[in-house]
Amino acid sequence: MAEEKIIIFDTTLRDGEQAPGASLSITEKLEIAQQLAILGVDVIEAGFSVSSPAQFEATARVAEQVIGPTIAGLARANEKDIEAAGKAIAKAKKRRIHTFIATSPIHMKYKLKKNSDEVLKMAVEAVKYAKTFTNDVEFSPEDACRSDMSFLIEILTAVIEAGATTLNIPDTVGYILPYEYGRIIAQLKSNVPGIDKCIISTHCHNDLGMAVANSLTGVRNGARQVECTINGLGERAGNAALEEIVMAIQTRADFFGKDKAKPLTTNINTKQIYKTSQLVSRLTGFVVQPNKAIVGANAFAHEAGVHVDGILKERTTYEIITPESIGLGSSRMVLGRHTGRHGFVDRCKQLGFKLTEQEIEHTYQRFLEIADKKKEVFEEDVATIINDEIRVVVEKIYELEYLRVLIETEKAPTATVKIKSKEGIKEASAEGDGPVDAAYEAIREATGQSPKLESYSIKAVTGGKEALGEATVRIKQNGRTYIGRGVSTDIIEASAKAYVDAINRMVSINDKGTEPELKVEL
Ligand SMILES: [Zn+2]
Repeated sequence: MAEEKIIIFDTTLRDGEQAPGASLSITEKLEIAQQLAILGVDVIEAGFSVSSPAQFEATARVAEQVIGPTIAGLARANEKDIEAAGKAIAKAKKRRIHTFIATSPIHMKYKLKKNSDEVLKMAVEAVKYAKTFTNDVEFSPEDACRSDMSFLIEILTAVIEAGATTLNIPDTVGYILPYEYGRIIAQLKSNVPGIDKCIISTHCHNDLGMAVANSLTGVRNGARQVECTINGLGERAGNAALEEIVMAIQTRADFFGKDKAKPLTTNINTKQIYKTSQLVSRLTGFVVQPNKAIVGANAFAHEAGVHVDGILKERTTYEIITPESIGLGSSRMVLGRHTGRHGFVDRCKQLGFKLTEQEIEHTYQRFLEIADKKKEVFEEDVATIINDEIRVVVEKIYELEYLRVLIETEKAPTATVKIKSKEGIKEASAEGDGPVDAAYEAIREATGQSPKLESYSIKAVTGGKEALGEATVRIKQNGRTYIGRGVSTDIIEASAKAYVDAINRMVSINDKGTEPELKVEL
């Protein structure tokens, strides 16, 4: 039986990156894009090129180096944006320009200050201009779900005539409910002339927690592309989570394939889902909530006695998805000193890391240090070490050379740090409410930097009392958020490293005097 594919359009690098504090370096974007290609997404929206030189370069590098998916560039409906997008994606084998303009009365009146005739004209011109860069042009009427149905039909008819090949229907503000969204898709499908030659796409936000439900109702009503992000990252409450969309379609094939000659499927290699989720979480600093569907730490944890008993007798009693299907726990190989350099390099390759000689040297040394402290090193630990070592830090302006923390009963903890910088090594000591607080105060003194601490979290990468701890710190200065990470078998050291990492990111961005990037909501 033939299948019908749902096109998975991943916008983690564009919509996802717009989540406050999620900003990624060019190398980090490339790393995520490579993994998205391995995951099997059909389209990668790589960035909003006109917004900054860094956005342009990131999109261009993804277009040049990532093989497989179509690479899309986002552009507002004007020549400058479209030209920037067109140039950025020029080297991709398969390339798409995604252009958009708001169509709801409230957006046209207050944001664009244009009437519907003017908006329609701009949309048509944008699509025609985009066609001069590529045949594959996607059009989105921004805030579609609060737009007039008759105007939506009119503008979509016009852009199809102008050459649009994909029509995306965004619920920009996350307002719509599944039943209503399904009805909009169905109405457009039966009322827009020529729409049968195009792909209808969904783009739903999660402000009411409906992003995935809306997207799937859209699919059920004829949409054949879903825009989504890893871990549901995105503006405000986020976008539709890729992993939830894909696993729902797969797990409920009875629903999505029922009474159809062609059951719906995706090109996603679901065994890569967990790894992709972890990578995006690590690089953006956005921790996945434990109860998150599909990829949360508790998603497959059965602790209630009755459940465990059921699972032991027959897994399907309480498990609708196997952990193996998302690439979790299938081969939990243990490494140690005995693994040796060759074995270590082999394992890195199997995990999908392509390391340079120098990176191998650094990560192997770090692996040995950790193998000494922690008898059993798991694959998750190796991935964390590699990501920590090769994560491109802007520049190590400050380095934590030494840390000592003293905890005494009935006395405030004190910390001493030595911080290395161009100016040499500076030592500082401080007291705090707790050991981490004391270490942070000492770091502030030694670096002379005092950003506001927004949040701090620590998690164990794997279980056991000698677990590797990964700390994530968010700091804020002048309205911008910076995320730092640190890894160690000692949680206070991991926390101190994370703080120094965040400060390095803050200082290097401030040094360059980078203007805040222009962001668009869609
Ligand atoms: Zn969006």
